[in-house]
Amino acid sequence: MSGLLLGAHMSISGRVSNALDAAAAAGSNAVQVFTKNNRQWGGPPVDPGDATRWHEQMPALGVEYAVSHATYLINLASPKDDLWARSIGGQKDELRRAQAYGIPHVVLHPGAYTESSEEVGIARVSAALNRLHAELPECADTLTLLELTAGQGTSLGHSFGQLAAIIAGVEDKSRVGVCVDTCHALAAGYDFRTAEGYAAMMEEIEATIGLPTVKCWHFNDSKFDVGSHKDRHTHIGEGFVGLAGFRHILNDLAWDGIGMLLETPKDADGDGNDARNLATLAGLVDDPARVPLGLRQ
Ligand SMILES: [Zn+2]
Ligand SMILES: [Zn+2]
Repeated sequence: MSGLLLGAHMSISGRVSNALDAAAAAGSNAVQVFTKNNRQWGGPPVDPGDATRWHEQMPALGVEYAVSHATYLINLASPKDDLWARSIGGQKDELRRAQAYGIPHVVLHPGAYTESSEEVGIARVSAALNRLHAELPECADTLTLLELTAGQGTSLGHSFGQLAAIIAGVEDKSRVGVCVDTCHALAAGYDFRTAEGYAAMMEEIEATIGLPTVKCWHFNDSKFDVGSHKDRHTHIGEGFVGLAGFRHILNDLAWDGIGMLLETPKDADGDGNDARNLATLAGLVDDPARVPLGLRQ
């Protein structure tokens, strides 16, 4: 498929497949979901009826790409053996749920090394991924996407080099990818607001993880400026990323067919802000033929 895959994180209130209806109502052709409560380790088993509805409605509603986001509790970098083991179990549960819905990617924060060190933390994440890959051969087509982070505290994943170091320790590299969050990238120090800065970031991606490793984007503007290491999302064009930053990514054909998902604040009804942010993004695309049908102005 060519062209842009644009959408937003949508609520799964009621049932997971309701997110597809929300994505279609917003005119988008991509969606991100939690496949269970994002602040809990476990959840009820996948409802087979809902999974069937997902499989039927996704093509029917014109949603071409879906990604899930893992629970925030998971910390594969933890030096504590009990939390580490629980985190491996948590990510296994996330991969199994995604697979039941046919969702190919699960975005995961790499984790925080807390009282250990960057080096030890990186090794812990790689080892955890190797273990869960070995224990979950049936989910080989469901990838864990390590998210680029803002680099708050001891959080890992705030540079492409650090993500590459984690991936270097993973035996089956076909089972991992990367999700780049625009707010986190700016906060981590990547200034892609200028053409030169964007080109430099692209060169760094190529030199570290490689372009094909990037499997999705989170499109969020940032309340704080470049290098702040603070993770606060805001509406597209209303933060320090600004329209220029998004324009560079949206008009780079390298990202055709790679999902771009908003995680910007919702309004009281849950969708007015998404419509506005998606329209803003669509308006930045030079070639209207690359804009999803439902978002063409
Ligand atoms: Zn995230
Ligand atoms: Zn964030």
